[in-house]
Amino acid sequence: MNERNTAQPRWEELLQKAVSEPGIISQAYSRFHSYSFGNQMLAALQCGARGLPLGPIGTFMHWKENGRFVRKGEKAITLCMPITSKRTTEKHNDETGQDEAIEVGYTRFIYRNNWFVLAQTDGAEYTPAAMPEWSEAKALQSLEVTRVDFTMTDGNCQGYAQKRTVAISPLAEHPMRTLLHELAHVVLGHTAERMNDSGELTPRDIRELEAECTAMLVSASLNLPGVEESRGYIQSWYHDNTVPEQSAQRIFSAADRILKAGSMEVSQ
Ligand SMILES: [Zn+2]
Repeated sequence: MNERNTAQPRWEELLQKAVSEPGIISQAYSRFHSYSFGNQMLAALQCGARGLPLGPIGTFMHWKENGRFVRKGEKAITLCMPITSKRTTEKHNDETGQDEAIEVGYTRFIYRNNWFVLAQTDGAEYTPAAMPEWSEAKALQSLEVTRVDFTMTDGNCQGYAQKRTVAISPLAEHPMRTLLHELAHVVLGHTAERMNDSGELTPRDIRELEAECTAMLVSASLNLPGVEESRGYIQSWYHDNTVPEQSAQRIFSAADRILKAGSMEVSQ
């Protein structure tokens, strides 16, 4: 098995491609929805670079189990897998005054060349899994977020998030996109930061960037209106700045959580 151990995937680069190429997110989601957002982008970009039509992807065994075989000479698609491991470290115990060995979990990422897209295989007819439907009610419930009445009188405010509640203005131009933006603030932990008042606050412009990028990734995946406005906002950010690598990783993971939280399997 080919295994290439790298430091970290460059989430920032993947994010920049995702938000700047119109159509790439919804195409990737419709084909690769069972994979994480980062892997959807990795698969879409590799298919694009090799001129392969986007389609369902699976491992060699997946295709074999479905009566198909990978054509000779086809080069596998590389995806990234998080591997959680433990390492031992010393920590000072204030009660005993001793240094003690403790185990801490950490995540590293491994790239594996294990996947093939439908167009690289031949054999029995293949029906891809149906795309899940997304339900706002289910997402809110799974994420333990409550939608409350909008009580702000400021006409420019489209919505806000407080603790684990979100409120959307009845006049919001794209109510669903605004809901996703406010939900993103909660999922990204921004509202909790303001609650416990400990540690550093994420700077306001970074909070807004993270929430808007997350809302855009989810909106584009679900083909909701308002994506172009989000793209405009994000492009204007890129005009003077880059997105910090840590933010890019947080954005991908928040988008994954929101999409998964509202997903309802569709029976075929
Ligand atoms: Zn915001």
